[in-house]
Order: sequence, then C-alpha cells, then structure tokens
Amino acid sequence: MAADIIDGKAYAEGLRARVAQAVPGFVAAAGRKPGLAVVLVGEDPASQVYVRAKGKATIAAGLESFEHKLPDTVTQGELIALVRRLNADEAVDGILVQLPLPRGIDDKAVIAAIDPAKDVDGFTIANAGRLAVGEEALVPCTPLGCLMLLKDRLGDLSGLDAVVLGRSNIVGKPMAQLLLRENCTVTIAHSRTRDLPDVVRRADIVVAAVGRPQMVRGDWLKPGATVIDVGINRIEIGEGKTRLVGDVEFESAVDVAGAITPVPGGVGPMTIAVLLRNTLAAAFARAGLPAPEGL
Ligand code: NDP
Repeated sequence: MAADIIDGKAYAEGLRARVAQAVPGFVAAAGRKPGLAVVLVGEDPASQVYVRAKGKATIAAGLESFEHKLPDTVTQGELIALVRRLNADEAVDGILVQLPLPRGIDDKAVIAAIDPAKDVDGFTIANAGRLAVGEEALVPCTPLGCLMLLKDRLGDLSGLDAVVLGRSNIVGKPMAQLLLRENCTVTIAHSRTRDLPDVVRRADIVVAAVGRPQMVRGDWLKPGATVIDVGINRIEIGEGKTRLVGDVEFESAVDVAGAITPVPGGVGPMTIAVLLRNTLAAAFARAGLPAPEGL
C-alpha cells in the first residue's frame, strides 16, 4: 500500500496563518510590529532567491522586514559591527545572516556576535547548548519544522526508534536533540556509519539530511516507517533538464513507508514558516510577554 504523503506546503501555510493571526496581539501589547533583519553578503544567486522569499513571507505575515545587502568586499569586522547594531536595535527581534558567507569571512565569528535572544536561526552556541541541556531555546528552523510534521502525523513520539541521517550543526544534530526531547530512542548516522541500511531498517522514524540524491532506498525501510526527507538535490535528467530530488528514493520508499514527505513540497516550505514563528516567539520573549498558544 502506498504511503501517505505528508503535505509540508499545507502545514507551512497553516503555520504562517497562525503567525499572522498572532501578530496583532503583539502589536497591541508592544506598540510595534515584530521585526526580522536579514543580512545578505555578496551575489550568490541561491542566497538572493532565499532572502527575497524570506522578505516577502515576513511582510505577508505582518512582520517588519529589514534587509541589509552588503558587497562581498565587506570585511568581517564591518559585518560584525552591523550585527552588533542590529543587536542594539529595539525594532529588531530576529537576526538572520544568510550563509554561506564569502571566503575570508569566518561564519562562526559572525554567528557568535548575534544576541542569542535574537538568534532566530538557532545557530549560536548559546541556543545549541540550551537545546542540548533541555532549556527553552531558539531552535534551527529546518529540524524544528521536521519535528512539527512528525508530531502532526504521529502525535506522541515517546519510545519510538528514530534514525537521523546526517550530523550537521544546522540539521542533523539539532534534529537528534529534538527527537530525544520527545523521548525517542535516537541513532545518529553519518558517513562513517557501518551498514547504514541495517541501521535505517530499525527505525520507526527516519530523518534523512545527507545531501546525497536518492541515497535511502525503499528496501532500507521498516514497513510503515515515517520518513522525513530534508535533502534538496538537483539532478540532471537528460536533454539539459534537471529536477529536484531528496535524499530518499521516493519511488521505492513510497511503497514501504507509512508516510513520507515529498521533495519538493515537504520539508522545504516549513523552513521559512518556522523562521517567522521563531521571530514572533523571540519578539514575545524580548517584550516579556507570554507566547500565544499553538505557535
Ligand atoms: P551537510 O553537508 O552539512 O551534512 C551532511 C551530513 O550527511 C554529514 O553529517 C555527513 O556525514 C552525512 N553524510 C554524507 N554522506 C553520507 C553517506 N553516504 N552516508 C551517511 N551519511 C552521510 O548538510 P546539511 O545538514 O546542511 O544538509 C543536508 C541536506 O539537507 C542537503 O541536501 C541540504 O540541501 C538539505 N537542506 C534542506 C533544507 C530545507 O529547508 N529543506 C535546509 C538545510 C539543508 P559526516 O559528518 O561524517 O561528513
């Protein structure tokens, strides 16, 4: 029987609508809109597309969007000085520095300069540490989006076996921490893992975030498993055409899984929606106001 398709696009639209509904409450209490500042350095076309999409979604949800576009000749010192100005700016609740940064600029030093209370990407060591020790934290958008889809599908995740493929700081590791917080038994697999199919076959939940097109095949999966495919890979399909695929071979996985996210239309749309959610949550927290239910 074919798996249910998890509609990330629809869930993301609902989340964006919930954010938009909660904004007037913040405006009434704080006397201003919540604000997201996005910093883009250089001319990377993919980054420009993302930043444009983030700006549009921010305004559509009723938040203030501040875009800072800098040439790739900017120095690390100048960039950090901008981050510090945004830290001090009362109108800014969230700061996002679009990665990757041009060569010669140390991502880690720039991220470290962001005030953790405004770190809506959840990339600072302070927020990663809070997540690891189980304290309230701003959590990276993509894994938090994956968790929302999983809870929407499965409800209580307690006791389930989860395998996270990939151990990056922005997806794999925070994903594993979130699943642990939900009382899953979590295995983190990576490029040195032995017998990956065998590890994956034990899992009730599989989150694939490796950046390897269609690596996870249907015959690796436990029948009925819930599969979240984070991968976004562009592959050539001949005649100069390309298409987007995930890290999971959808065509074979759909026959074995209980539910699966498609690519595109699964995890991808969640990332910006969660960014808006994190910005609003940061705004409420900075203003000392209780966050609205259901965010
Ligand atoms: P990274 O390249 O930072 O990390 C990839 C991870 O996968 C590493 O931990 C690596 O292991 C592991 N890995 C690589 N090859 C294998 C293999 N053959 N077997 C097992 N593990 C392997 O990637 P990201 O975490 O940044 O992103 C992962 C994917 O998710 C990409 O396709 C990216 O485009 C996508 N993505 C999608 C987002 C969205 O909005 N939907 C947002 C962010 C990312 P090791 O540590 O040993 O090297």
